[in-house]
Amino acid sequence: MSYIAAVARTERGFSSSTLASPGGSNPLLVALISGGAALAAGYLLFSPSSQPKHSASAAEPTSSATNDDGGPVTASHPAYNFDAAIKELQSFLPEDRLSFEESERETHGHSSWSYHPSHPHAAVVYPIDVSEVVRIVKIAGKHKVPLVPYAGGTSLEAHYSAPDPHSDRRKSISVDFNLMDKILRYSEEDGDITVQPGVRWEGLNEELKNRGSKYFFPIDPGPSAAIGGMVASGCSGTNAVRYGTMKGDYILNLTVVLPSGEVITTRSRARKSSAGPDLTKLFLGSEGTLGLVVAATLRLAPIPPCTSVGVSAFPSASDACSAARDLLAHGIGVQCVELLDDVMLAAVNKANAADTRAIKHVEQPSLFIRFAASSDAAMRADSQLAARILEKHGGSKMQFAMDKDEIERLWHARKVALWSALDYPERKEGEKWRAWTTDVCVPVGQLSELIRRVKDDITQENILSPIVGHIGDGNFHGIILFRDGDQEMFERVERLVHRMVHHAQDLDGTCTGEHGVGIGKKQFLERELGKGTLDLLRMLKRTLDPDSIMNPGKLIDVY
Ligand SMILES: Cc1cc2nc3c(=O)[nH]c(=O)nc-3n(C[C@H](O)[C@H](O)[C@H](O)COP(=O)(O)OP(=O)(O)OC[C@H]3O[C@@H](n4cnc5c(N)ncnc54)[C@H](O)[C@@H]3O)c2cc1C
Repeated sequence: MSYIAAVARTERGFSSSTLASPGGSNPLLVALISGGAALAAGYLLFSPSSQPKHSASAAEPTSSATNDDGGPVTASHPAYNFDAAIKELQSFLPEDRLSFEESERETHGHSSWSYHPSHPHAAVVYPIDVSEVVRIVKIAGKHKVPLVPYAGGTSLEAHYSAPDPHSDRRKSISVDFNLMDKILRYSEEDGDITVQPGVRWEGLNEELKNRGSKYFFPIDPGPSAAIGGMVASGCSGTNAVRYGTMKGDYILNLTVVLPSGEVITTRSRARKSSAGPDLTKLFLGSEGTLGLVVAATLRLAPIPPCTSVGVSAFPSASDACSAARDLLAHGIGVQCVELLDDVMLAAVNKANAADTRAIKHVEQPSLFIRFAASSDAAMRADSQLAARILEKHGGSKMQFAMDKDEIERLWHARKVALWSALDYPERKEGEKWRAWTTDVCVPVGQLSELIRRVKDDITQENILSPIVGHIGDGNFHGIILFRDGDQEMFERVERLVHRMVHHAQDLDGTCTGEHGVGIGKKQFLERELGKGTLDLLRMLKRTLDPDSIMNPGKLIDVY
Protein backbone atom coordinates (compact mmCIF):
# COMPACT_ATOMS: atom_id res chain seq x y z
CA MET A 1 0.00 0.00 0.00
CA SER A 2 1.39 3.44 -0.90
CA TYR A 3 2.09 5.99 1.77
CA ILE A 4 -0.71 8.30 0.55
CA ALA A 5 -3.19 5.41 0.41
CA ALA A 6 -2.23 4.42 3.94
CA VAL A 7 -2.86 7.96 5.16
CA ALA A 8 -6.18 8.14 3.31
CA ARG A 9 -7.25 4.82 4.78
CA THR A 10 -6.36 5.99 8.25
CA GLU A 11 -8.09 9.32 7.79
CA ARG A 12 -11.28 7.56 6.80
CA GLY A 13 -11.03 5.48 9.97
CA PHE A 14 -10.53 8.72 11.87
CA SER A 15 -14.09 9.94 11.39
CA SER A 16 -15.74 12.84 13.15
CA SER A 17 -18.00 10.38 14.93
CA THR A 18 -14.98 8.93 16.72
CA LEU A 19 -13.22 12.23 17.37
CA ALA A 20 -15.13 14.46 19.76
CA SER A 21 -14.66 18.19 19.18
CA PRO A 22 -12.63 20.10 21.77
CA GLY A 23 -15.75 21.71 23.12
CA GLY A 24 -17.74 18.47 23.36
CA SER A 25 -19.28 17.76 26.75
CA ASN A 26 -17.51 15.04 28.66
CA PRO A 27 -18.89 14.09 32.04
CA LEU A 28 -15.49 13.01 33.31
CA LEU A 29 -13.85 16.26 32.34
CA VAL A 30 -16.71 18.22 33.84
CA ALA A 31 -16.13 16.24 37.03
CA LEU A 32 -12.43 17.01 36.82
CA ILE A 33 -12.89 20.72 36.29
CA SER A 34 -15.47 21.05 39.05
CA GLY A 35 -13.13 18.88 41.16
CA GLY A 36 -10.42 21.47 40.51
CA ALA A 37 -12.69 24.26 41.76
CA ALA A 38 -13.49 22.34 44.93
CA LEU A 39 -9.81 21.70 45.39
CA ALA A 40 -9.13 25.41 45.21
CA ALA A 41 -11.56 25.78 48.09
CA GLY A 42 -9.35 23.42 50.06
CA TYR A 43 -12.00 20.71 50.16
CA LEU A 44 -11.16 17.70 48.07
CA LEU A 45 -7.80 16.76 49.49
CA PHE A 46 -9.38 16.28 52.88
CA SER A 47 -12.72 14.90 51.75
CA PRO A 48 -13.39 11.30 52.80
CA SER A 49 -14.46 10.58 49.22
CA SER A 50 -10.98 11.47 48.01
CA GLN A 51 -9.38 8.86 50.22
CA PRO A 52 -8.00 5.84 48.39
CA LYS A 53 -10.84 3.70 47.07
CA HIS A 54 -9.21 0.56 48.39
CA SER A 55 -8.79 1.12 52.09
CA ALA A 56 -7.92 -2.54 52.72
CA SER A 57 -4.30 -3.53 52.21
CA ALA A 58 -3.52 -4.65 48.67
CA ALA A 59 -3.56 -8.35 49.51
CA GLU A 60 -6.48 -8.37 51.97
CA PRO A 61 -9.71 -10.02 50.65
CA THR A 62 -12.35 -7.35 49.93
CA SER A 63 -15.25 -9.79 49.49
CA SER A 64 -15.97 -13.50 49.69
CA ALA A 65 -15.99 -13.75 45.86
CA THR A 66 -13.19 -15.59 44.11
CA ASN A 67 -11.24 -14.45 41.10
CA ASP A 68 -10.83 -16.10 37.71
CA ASP A 69 -7.84 -18.06 39.01
CA GLY A 70 -9.84 -19.23 42.05
CA GLY A 71 -7.98 -16.86 44.41
CA PRO A 72 -9.66 -14.26 46.64
CA VAL A 73 -10.73 -10.85 45.34
CA THR A 74 -8.34 -8.24 46.76
CA ALA A 75 -7.39 -4.66 45.97
CA SER A 76 -4.36 -5.93 44.06
CA HIS A 77 -6.46 -8.61 42.35
CA PRO A 78 -9.95 -7.20 41.81
CA ALA A 79 -12.69 -9.23 40.17
CA TYR A 80 -12.06 -9.30 36.43
CA ASN A 81 -12.55 -11.62 33.51
CA PHE A 82 -9.62 -11.97 31.15
CA ASP A 83 -11.07 -14.86 29.13
CA ALA A 84 -14.33 -13.03 28.43
CA ALA A 85 -12.37 -9.98 27.25
CA ILE A 86 -10.24 -12.09 24.91
CA LYS A 87 -13.33 -13.77 23.47
CA GLU A 88 -14.80 -10.38 22.60
CA LEU A 89 -11.51 -9.14 21.13
CA GLN A 90 -11.31 -12.25 18.95
CA SER A 91 -14.69 -11.36 17.45
CA PHE A 92 -13.15 -8.47 15.48
CA LEU A 93 -9.34 -8.68 15.64
CA PRO A 94 -7.67 -11.01 13.13
CA GLU A 95 -5.30 -13.64 14.54
CA ASP A 96 -2.18 -11.77 13.45
CA ARG A 97 -3.23 -8.72 15.48
CA LEU A 98 -4.07 -10.50 18.74
CA SER A 99 -1.08 -12.51 19.82
CA PHE A 100 -0.45 -14.98 22.63
CA GLU A 101 3.06 -15.88 21.36
CA GLU A 102 5.46 -16.18 24.26
CA SER A 103 8.23 -14.20 22.53
CA GLU A 104 5.87 -11.30 21.75
CA ARG A 105 4.41 -11.24 25.25
CA GLU A 106 7.94 -11.28 26.64
CA THR A 107 9.26 -8.49 24.36
CA HIS A 108 6.38 -6.27 25.41
CA GLY A 109 7.19 -6.81 29.08
CA HIS A 110 10.95 -6.49 29.05
CA SER A 111 13.77 -4.14 28.03
CA SER A 112 17.38 -5.16 27.61
CA TRP A 113 18.31 -1.54 28.42
CA SER A 114 16.73 -1.78 31.83
CA TYR A 115 17.70 -3.45 35.12
CA HIS A 116 14.04 -4.32 35.83
CA PRO A 117 12.93 -7.95 35.77
CA SER A 118 10.74 -9.06 32.90
CA HIS A 119 6.93 -9.04 33.41
CA PRO A 120 5.34 -10.52 30.26
CA HIS A 121 1.75 -9.72 29.32
CA ALA A 122 -0.89 -12.38 28.74
CA ALA A 123 -1.68 -11.04 25.23
CA VAL A 124 -0.62 -8.35 22.77
CA VAL A 125 -3.01 -6.44 20.48
CA TYR A 126 -2.11 -4.32 17.45
CA PRO A 127 -4.91 -1.82 16.66
CA ILE A 128 -4.89 -0.06 13.28
CA ASP A 129 -7.24 2.84 13.92
CA VAL A 130 -9.07 4.85 16.55
CA SER A 131 -12.30 2.87 16.32
CA GLU A 132 -10.42 -0.34 17.15
CA VAL A 133 -8.71 1.32 20.10
CA VAL A 134 -12.11 2.43 21.38
CA ARG A 135 -13.48 -1.13 21.12
CA ILE A 136 -10.44 -2.56 22.90
CA VAL A 137 -10.75 -0.02 25.72
CA LYS A 138 -14.49 -0.60 26.14
CA ILE A 139 -14.02 -4.37 26.30
CA ALA A 140 -11.15 -4.04 28.79
CA GLY A 141 -13.27 -1.66 30.87
CA LYS A 142 -16.26 -4.01 30.86
CA HIS A 143 -14.14 -6.93 32.10
CA LYS A 144 -11.70 -4.83 34.17
CA VAL A 145 -8.66 -6.14 32.31
CA PRO A 146 -5.48 -3.98 32.46
CA LEU A 147 -4.27 -2.41 29.20
CA VAL A 148 -0.65 -1.31 28.90
CA PRO A 149 0.23 0.87 25.91
CA TYR A 150 3.46 0.28 23.99
CA ALA A 151 5.05 2.56 21.37
CA GLY A 152 8.82 2.46 20.71
CA GLY A 153 9.60 0.30 23.75
CA THR A 154 12.65 2.38 24.75
CA SER A 155 11.57 3.56 28.19
CA LEU A 156 13.82 2.50 31.01
CA GLU A 157 11.82 2.15 34.22
CA ALA A 158 9.57 -0.82 33.37
CA HIS A 159 6.95 1.61 32.07
CA TYR A 160 5.35 -0.81 29.61
CA SER A 161 5.80 -4.16 31.32
CA ALA A 162 2.85 -6.11 32.73
CA PRO A 163 1.76 -4.94 36.18
CA ASP A 164 4.14 -5.92 38.93
CA PRO A 165 2.43 -8.99 40.45
CA HIS A 166 3.19 -7.61 43.92
CA SER A 167 0.79 -4.72 43.31
CA ASP A 168 -1.67 -6.07 40.70
CA ARG A 169 -2.05 -9.75 39.86
CA ARG A 170 -4.46 -9.37 36.94
CA LYS A 171 -3.40 -10.69 33.52
CA SER A 172 -2.78 -7.75 31.20
CA ILE A 173 -2.94 -6.89 27.51
CA SER A 174 -0.21 -4.88 25.83
CA VAL A 175 -1.61 -2.42 23.26
CA ASP A 176 1.10 -2.03 20.64
CA PHE A 177 0.71 1.15 18.54
CA ASN A 178 3.26 0.30 15.88
CA LEU A 179 0.64 -0.18 13.16
CA MET A 180 -0.73 3.30 13.87
CA ASP A 181 2.30 5.03 12.39
CA LYS A 182 0.87 7.45 9.82
CA ILE A 183 1.10 11.17 9.29
CA LEU A 184 -2.53 12.34 9.35
CA ARG A 185 -2.04 15.92 8.18
CA TYR A 186 0.79 18.38 7.67
CA SER A 187 0.91 22.12 7.17
CA GLU A 188 4.13 23.79 6.06
CA GLU A 189 2.28 27.09 6.36
CA ASP A 190 1.37 26.52 10.02
CA GLY A 191 4.57 24.63 10.85
CA ASP A 192 2.66 21.78 12.48
CA ILE A 193 1.84 18.15 11.85
CA THR A 194 -0.66 15.63 13.21
CA VAL A 195 0.60 12.09 13.60
CA GLN A 196 -0.47 8.74 14.99
CA PRO A 197 1.22 7.45 18.17
CA GLY A 198 3.42 4.86 16.44
CA VAL A 199 5.34 7.47 14.39
CA ARG A 200 9.01 7.45 15.41
CA TRP A 201 10.71 10.82 15.84
CA GLU A 202 13.64 9.92 13.59
CA GLY A 203 11.32 8.61 10.84
CA LEU A 204 9.23 11.76 11.13
CA ASN A 205 12.27 13.98 10.59
CA GLU A 206 13.37 11.82 7.67
CA GLU A 207 9.91 12.17 6.11
CA LEU A 208 9.91 15.96 6.60
CA LYS A 209 13.33 16.12 4.95
CA ASN A 210 12.10 14.02 2.01
CA ARG A 211 9.20 16.43 1.57
CA GLY A 212 11.65 19.33 1.39
CA SER A 213 10.26 20.88 4.57
CA LYS A 214 12.11 23.69 6.28
CA TYR A 215 10.98 22.24 9.63
CA PHE A 216 11.89 19.39 11.94
CA PHE A 217 10.60 17.98 15.23
CA PRO A 218 13.30 18.82 17.77
CA ILE A 219 12.61 16.48 20.70
CA ASP A 220 15.21 13.69 20.53
CA PRO A 221 15.03 10.92 23.17
CA GLY A 222 16.29 7.35 22.64
CA PRO A 223 16.64 5.96 19.11
CA SER A 224 13.33 4.39 17.94
CA ALA A 225 11.13 6.17 20.48
CA ALA A 226 7.66 6.93 19.06
CA ILE A 227 5.31 9.84 19.64
CA GLY A 228 2.80 7.97 21.86
CA GLY A 229 5.53 6.91 24.27
CA MET A 230 7.30 10.27 24.07
CA VAL A 231 4.10 12.08 25.01
CA ALA A 232 3.36 9.64 27.81
CA SER A 233 6.88 9.73 29.24
CA GLY A 234 7.26 13.53 28.93
CA CYS A 235 10.70 12.96 27.43
CA SER A 236 13.35 15.29 26.04
CA GLY A 237 16.92 14.89 24.79
CA THR A 238 20.07 16.72 23.78
CA ASN A 239 18.13 19.52 22.05
CA ALA A 240 16.18 20.47 25.18
CA VAL A 241 18.52 23.32 26.05
CA ARG A 242 17.29 25.18 22.95
CA TYR A 243 13.84 23.71 22.27
CA GLY A 244 12.56 22.50 25.64
CA THR A 245 10.89 19.17 26.36
CA MET A 246 7.71 17.29 25.38
CA LYS A 247 6.15 19.06 28.37
CA GLY A 248 6.92 22.45 26.79
CA ASP A 249 4.95 23.95 23.91
CA TYR A 250 5.71 21.40 21.19
CA ILE A 251 2.51 19.39 21.65
CA LEU A 252 -0.37 21.52 20.43
CA ASN A 253 -3.08 18.97 21.10
CA LEU A 254 -3.69 15.30 21.77
CA THR A 255 -6.50 12.98 20.83
CA VAL A 256 -6.98 10.50 23.63
CA VAL A 257 -9.19 7.47 24.23
CA LEU A 258 -10.19 7.76 27.87
CA PRO A 259 -10.63 4.67 30.06
CA SER A 260 -14.41 5.01 29.50
CA GLY A 261 -13.86 4.60 25.75
CA GLU A 262 -14.77 8.22 25.06
CA VAL A 263 -12.50 10.06 22.60
CA ILE A 264 -11.45 13.64 23.30
CA THR A 265 -9.18 16.15 21.62
CA THR A 266 -7.59 18.33 24.26
CA ARG A 267 -7.58 21.68 22.39
CA SER A 268 -7.36 23.29 18.95
CA ARG A 269 -4.23 23.67 16.81
CA ALA A 270 -3.77 27.35 17.64
CA ARG A 271 -0.24 28.16 18.80
CA LYS A 272 -1.62 29.54 22.01
CA SER A 273 -4.94 29.44 23.78
CA SER A 274 -6.20 30.78 27.06
CA ALA A 275 -9.51 28.96 26.70
CA GLY A 276 -9.32 27.26 30.07
CA PRO A 277 -6.64 24.99 31.51
CA ASP A 278 -4.52 23.07 29.02
CA LEU A 279 -5.62 19.47 29.44
CA THR A 280 -2.96 18.39 26.96
CA LYS A 281 -0.56 18.71 29.86
CA LEU A 282 -2.59 16.24 31.90
CA PHE A 283 -1.47 13.47 29.56
CA LEU A 284 2.15 14.58 29.13
CA GLY A 285 4.12 12.34 31.47
CA SER A 286 1.02 10.34 32.48
CA GLU A 287 2.75 7.11 31.34
CA GLY A 288 -0.37 5.56 29.86
CA THR A 289 -2.20 5.65 33.19
CA LEU A 290 -4.96 8.10 32.18
CA GLY A 291 -5.78 7.20 28.58
CA LEU A 292 -4.43 6.04 25.24
CA VAL A 293 -3.04 8.71 22.93
CA VAL A 294 -4.24 8.04 19.38
CA ALA A 295 -3.07 11.25 17.69
CA ALA A 296 -0.85 14.22 18.48
CA THR A 297 -0.47 17.57 16.78
CA LEU A 298 3.14 18.62 17.00
CA ARG A 299 4.55 22.06 16.56
CA LEU A 300 7.65 21.96 14.36
CA ALA A 301 10.83 24.04 14.60
CA PRO A 302 12.71 25.63 11.69
CA ILE A 303 15.88 23.74 10.76
CA PRO A 304 18.79 26.01 11.72
CA PRO A 305 20.58 27.05 8.51
CA CYS A 306 24.07 26.53 10.01
CA THR A 307 25.31 24.19 12.70
CA SER A 308 28.76 23.47 14.07
CA VAL A 309 30.33 21.54 16.93
CA GLY A 310 32.91 22.51 19.55
CA VAL A 311 34.68 20.39 22.19
CA SER A 312 36.69 21.59 25.17
CA ALA A 313 38.20 19.70 28.15
CA PHE A 314 38.18 21.05 31.73
CA PRO A 315 40.19 20.46 34.89
CA SER A 316 36.98 19.50 36.74
CA ALA A 317 33.27 18.84 36.15
CA SER A 318 32.58 21.91 38.26
CA ASP A 319 34.57 24.12 35.83
CA ALA A 320 32.69 22.56 32.92
CA CYS A 321 29.35 23.33 34.62
CA SER A 322 30.32 26.98 35.21
CA ALA A 323 31.46 27.33 31.60
CA ALA A 324 28.17 25.90 30.28
CA ARG A 325 26.13 28.28 32.43
CA ASP A 326 28.19 31.26 31.30
CA LEU A 327 27.86 30.21 27.65
CA LEU A 328 24.08 30.10 27.90
CA ALA A 329 23.91 33.37 29.82
CA HIS A 330 25.62 35.11 26.87
CA GLY A 331 22.73 34.19 24.57
CA ILE A 332 25.00 32.25 22.22
CA GLY A 333 23.05 30.01 19.79
CA VAL A 334 23.61 26.72 21.60
CA GLN A 335 21.51 23.75 20.43
CA CYS A 336 23.07 21.16 22.77
CA VAL A 337 25.64 21.30 25.51
CA GLU A 338 26.63 17.89 26.80
CA LEU A 339 29.07 16.86 29.51
CA LEU A 340 31.07 13.63 29.19
CA ASP A 341 33.12 12.94 32.30
CA ASP A 342 36.64 11.49 32.50
CA VAL A 343 35.37 7.91 32.91
CA MET A 344 33.02 8.23 29.94
CA LEU A 345 35.81 9.55 27.71
CA ALA A 346 38.09 6.72 28.82
CA ALA A 347 35.30 4.32 27.78
CA VAL A 348 34.89 6.08 24.41
CA ASN A 349 38.65 6.02 23.76
CA LYS A 350 38.75 2.31 24.59
CA ALA A 351 35.81 1.58 22.27
CA ASN A 352 37.44 3.58 19.45
CA ALA A 353 40.96 2.22 19.95
CA ALA A 354 40.97 0.31 16.67
CA ASP A 355 39.44 3.14 14.63
CA THR A 356 42.25 5.16 13.04
CA ARG A 357 39.89 8.01 12.08
CA ALA A 358 38.47 8.40 15.60
CA ILE A 359 39.56 11.34 17.72
CA LYS A 360 41.43 10.37 20.88
CA HIS A 361 39.93 12.55 23.60
CA VAL A 362 41.70 13.94 26.64
CA GLU A 363 40.29 11.93 29.55
CA GLN A 364 38.98 14.92 31.48
CA PRO A 365 35.42 16.23 31.94
CA SER A 366 34.59 17.78 28.56
CA LEU A 367 31.85 19.86 27.00
CA PHE A 368 30.45 18.81 23.64
CA ILE A 369 28.60 21.79 22.20
CA ARG A 370 26.44 22.02 19.11
CA PHE A 371 25.96 25.58 17.87
CA ALA A 372 23.09 26.73 15.64
CA ALA A 373 23.01 30.04 13.77
CA SER A 374 21.33 31.79 10.88
CA SER A 375 24.55 32.27 8.84
CA ASP A 376 28.20 31.19 8.71
CA ALA A 377 29.27 34.66 9.79
CA ALA A 378 26.99 34.58 12.86
CA MET A 379 28.25 31.07 13.60
CA ARG A 380 31.90 32.13 13.52
CA ALA A 381 31.22 35.13 15.75
CA ASP A 382 29.35 32.93 18.26
CA SER A 383 32.02 30.26 18.28
CA GLN A 384 34.81 32.79 18.86
CA LEU A 385 32.95 34.24 21.82
CA ALA A 386 32.23 30.70 23.07
CA ALA A 387 35.93 29.73 22.86
CA ARG A 388 36.87 32.75 24.99
CA ILE A 389 34.22 31.89 27.60
CA LEU A 390 35.31 28.25 27.81
CA GLU A 391 38.97 29.23 28.26
CA LYS A 392 37.99 31.71 30.98
CA HIS A 393 36.68 28.72 32.97
CA GLY A 394 39.84 26.67 32.46
CA GLY A 395 38.70 24.91 29.28
CA SER A 396 41.21 23.74 26.66
CA LYS A 397 41.36 25.45 23.25
CA MET A 398 38.05 24.54 21.65
CA GLN A 399 38.23 21.95 18.87
CA PHE A 400 35.76 23.26 16.31
CA ALA A 401 34.08 21.81 13.20
CA MET A 402 31.71 23.35 10.64
CA ASP A 403 32.15 20.81 7.87
CA LYS A 404 29.55 17.97 7.88
CA ASP A 405 32.09 15.11 8.10
CA GLU A 406 34.17 16.86 10.72
CA ILE A 407 31.04 17.62 12.77
CA GLU A 408 30.20 13.91 12.76
CA ARG A 409 33.75 12.97 13.70
CA LEU A 410 33.85 15.38 16.64
CA TRP A 411 30.32 14.50 17.85
CA HIS A 412 31.00 10.76 17.51
CA ALA A 413 32.06 10.41 21.17
CA ARG A 414 28.69 11.74 22.33
CA LYS A 415 26.85 9.48 19.92
CA VAL A 416 28.57 6.28 21.04
CA ALA A 417 28.76 7.13 24.75
CA LEU A 418 26.17 4.62 25.96
CA TRP A 419 27.47 1.71 23.89
CA SER A 420 31.07 2.52 24.87
CA ALA A 421 30.11 2.55 28.55
CA LEU A 422 28.51 -0.89 28.28
CA ASP A 423 31.71 -2.30 26.76
CA TYR A 424 34.02 -0.58 29.22
CA PRO A 425 34.42 -3.02 32.14
CA GLU A 426 37.26 -5.51 31.90
CA ARG A 427 35.50 -8.85 31.97
CA LYS A 428 36.46 -12.43 32.54
CA GLU A 429 35.55 -15.10 30.00
CA GLY A 430 31.75 -15.60 29.95
CA GLU A 431 31.10 -12.70 32.33
CA LYS A 432 28.20 -10.41 31.41
CA TRP A 433 27.88 -6.77 32.49
CA ARG A 434 24.72 -4.71 32.50
CA ALA A 435 23.87 -1.07 33.10
CA TRP A 436 21.42 0.61 35.42
CA THR A 437 20.80 3.76 33.40
CA THR A 438 19.24 6.50 35.46
CA ASP A 439 18.79 10.25 35.32
CA VAL A 440 18.22 13.09 37.77
CA CYS A 441 17.92 16.83 37.23
CA VAL A 442 18.58 19.92 39.37
CA PRO A 443 18.47 23.69 38.85
CA VAL A 444 21.49 24.42 36.64
CA GLY A 445 23.35 26.30 39.38
CA GLN A 446 23.24 23.16 41.58
CA LEU A 447 24.60 20.73 39.01
CA SER A 448 28.28 20.89 39.94
CA GLU A 449 27.43 20.24 43.61
CA LEU A 450 25.26 17.28 42.58
CA ILE A 451 28.02 15.81 40.41
CA ARG A 452 30.54 16.28 43.25
CA ARG A 453 28.30 14.38 45.70
CA VAL A 454 27.54 11.61 43.21
CA LYS A 455 31.22 11.18 42.28
CA ASP A 456 32.05 10.82 46.01
CA ASP A 457 29.38 8.13 46.34
CA ILE A 458 30.66 6.32 43.24
CA THR A 459 34.13 6.19 44.81
CA GLN A 460 32.76 5.10 48.17
CA GLU A 461 30.69 2.27 46.66
CA ASN A 462 33.59 1.32 44.37
CA ILE A 463 31.36 1.22 41.29
CA LEU A 464 32.12 1.97 37.65
CA SER A 465 29.74 4.67 36.50
CA PRO A 466 30.46 6.93 33.54
CA ILE A 467 28.46 10.15 33.52
CA VAL A 468 26.93 11.89 30.54
CA GLY A 469 24.81 14.96 31.05
CA HIS A 470 22.47 17.31 29.25
CA ILE A 471 24.35 19.84 31.31
CA GLY A 472 22.60 22.93 29.96
CA ASP A 473 19.39 21.71 31.64
CA GLY A 474 20.99 20.53 34.90
CA ASN A 475 20.19 16.96 33.83
CA PHE A 476 22.61 14.04 33.85
CA HIS A 477 22.60 10.30 33.33
CA GLY A 478 24.58 7.78 35.31
CA ILE A 479 25.31 4.63 33.35
CA ILE A 480 26.00 2.49 36.37
CA LEU A 481 27.65 -0.79 35.48
CA PHE A 482 27.29 -4.07 37.34
CA ARG A 483 28.22 -7.70 36.83
CA ASP A 484 25.16 -9.74 35.91
CA GLY A 485 24.22 -12.06 38.77
CA ASP A 486 26.46 -10.32 41.36
CA GLN A 487 23.87 -9.53 44.03
CA GLU A 488 26.28 -7.73 46.34
CA MET A 489 27.38 -5.40 43.53
CA PHE A 490 23.76 -4.84 42.51
CA GLU A 491 22.93 -3.74 46.05
CA ARG A 492 25.79 -1.22 45.99
CA VAL A 493 24.43 0.13 42.69
CA GLU A 494 20.95 0.36 44.16
CA ARG A 495 22.27 2.33 47.14
CA LEU A 496 24.11 4.64 44.78
CA VAL A 497 20.96 5.34 42.74
CA HIS A 498 18.92 6.02 45.87
CA ARG A 499 21.51 8.46 47.16
CA MET A 500 21.75 10.14 43.75
CA VAL A 501 17.99 10.73 43.78
CA HIS A 502 18.05 12.04 47.34
CA HIS A 503 20.94 14.41 46.55
CA ALA A 504 19.01 15.75 43.54
CA GLN A 505 15.83 16.23 45.58
CA ASP A 506 17.78 17.88 48.41
CA LEU A 507 19.11 20.38 45.85
CA ASP A 508 15.54 21.26 44.81
CA GLY A 509 15.72 18.93 41.85
CA THR A 510 13.87 15.87 40.64
CA CYS A 511 14.26 12.09 40.72
CA THR A 512 14.03 12.08 36.91
CA GLY A 513 14.58 14.85 34.38
CA GLU A 514 13.42 12.87 31.35
CA HIS A 515 13.27 9.08 31.76
CA GLY A 516 10.09 9.11 33.83
CA VAL A 517 8.84 7.12 36.79
CA GLY A 518 7.45 3.74 35.63
CA ILE A 519 7.95 1.32 38.50
CA GLY A 520 11.54 2.26 39.33
CA LYS A 521 11.10 5.84 40.56
CA LYS A 522 7.64 5.49 42.15
CA GLN A 523 9.06 5.23 45.64
CA PHE A 524 10.68 8.69 45.38
CA LEU A 525 7.65 10.69 44.26
CA GLU A 526 6.13 11.50 47.63
CA ARG A 527 9.45 12.80 48.96
CA GLU A 528 9.65 15.11 45.96
CA LEU A 529 6.06 16.18 45.34
CA GLY A 530 4.50 15.87 48.79
CA LYS A 531 1.48 13.85 49.83
CA GLY A 532 -1.08 16.50 48.84
CA THR A 533 0.17 16.60 45.25
CA LEU A 534 0.22 12.81 45.02
CA ASP A 535 -3.29 12.62 46.48
CA LEU A 536 -4.45 14.99 43.74
CA LEU A 537 -2.83 12.75 41.13
CA ARG A 538 -4.53 9.70 42.69
CA MET A 539 -7.85 11.53 42.65
CA LEU A 540 -7.43 12.29 38.93
CA LYS A 541 -6.53 8.68 38.24
CA ARG A 542 -9.50 7.32 40.19
CA THR A 543 -11.88 9.81 38.55
CA LEU A 544 -10.79 8.93 35.03
CA ASP A 545 -10.02 5.27 35.60
CA PRO A 546 -12.01 3.94 38.57
CA ASP A 547 -11.19 0.28 37.80
CA SER A 548 -7.52 1.02 37.19
CA ILE A 549 -7.40 -0.59 33.77
CA MET A 550 -4.81 1.83 32.31
CA ASN A 551 -1.24 0.73 33.06
CA PRO A 552 -1.93 -0.05 36.73
CA GLY A 553 0.93 0.12 39.20
CA LYS A 554 3.02 2.53 37.11
CA LEU A 555 3.74 6.11 38.14
CA ILE A 556 1.59 5.92 41.31
CA ASP A 557 -0.19 3.33 43.40
CA VAL A 558 -3.84 4.20 43.76
CA TYR A 559 -4.66 2.21 46.86
C1 LIG B 1 19.58 4.31 24.28
C2 LIG B 1 18.53 5.15 24.95
C3 LIG B 1 18.72 6.52 25.04
C4 LIG B 1 17.74 7.31 25.65
N1 LIG B 1 17.92 8.66 25.69
C5 LIG B 1 16.93 9.44 26.18
C6 LIG B 1 17.06 10.87 26.17
O1 LIG B 1 18.06 11.44 25.75
N2 LIG B 1 16.02 11.59 26.64
C7 LIG B 1 14.88 11.00 27.11
O2 LIG B 1 13.96 11.71 27.52
N3 LIG B 1 14.74 9.66 27.14
C8 LIG B 1 15.72 8.87 26.68
N4 LIG B 1 15.56 7.51 26.69
C9 LIG B 1 14.29 6.94 27.20
C10 LIG B 1 13.19 6.77 26.13
O3 LIG B 1 13.71 6.87 24.83
C11 LIG B 1 12.08 7.81 26.32
O4 LIG B 1 11.46 7.65 27.57
C12 LIG B 1 10.99 7.76 25.23
O5 LIG B 1 10.18 8.88 25.35
C13 LIG B 1 10.11 6.52 25.30
O6 LIG B 1 9.35 6.47 24.12
P1 LIG B 1 8.84 5.07 23.54
O7 LIG B 1 8.11 5.33 22.28
O8 LIG B 1 9.96 4.12 23.46
O9 LIG B 1 7.80 4.67 24.66
P2 LIG B 1 7.50 3.27 25.33
O10 LIG B 1 8.72 2.78 26.02
O11 LIG B 1 6.86 2.36 24.37
O12 LIG B 1 6.42 3.73 26.40
C14 LIG B 1 6.70 4.72 27.35
C15 LIG B 1 5.46 4.96 28.20
O13 LIG B 1 4.44 5.50 27.39
C16 LIG B 1 3.25 4.71 27.44
N5 LIG B 1 2.65 4.78 26.10
C17 LIG B 1 3.15 4.31 24.94
N6 LIG B 1 2.32 4.59 23.93
C18 LIG B 1 1.26 5.25 24.45
C19 LIG B 1 0.06 5.79 23.92
N7 LIG B 1 -0.22 5.71 22.63
N8 LIG B 1 -0.80 6.39 24.77
C20 LIG B 1 -0.54 6.48 26.09
N9 LIG B 1 0.58 5.98 26.65
C21 LIG B 1 1.47 5.38 25.84
C22 LIG B 1 3.75 3.33 27.83
O14 LIG B 1 2.76 2.56 28.46
C23 LIG B 1 4.86 3.70 28.79
O15 LIG B 1 4.32 3.98 30.05
C24 LIG B 1 16.55 6.70 26.15
C25 LIG B 1 16.38 5.31 26.06
C26 LIG B 1 17.36 4.54 25.47
C27 LIG B 1 17.12 3.06 25.37
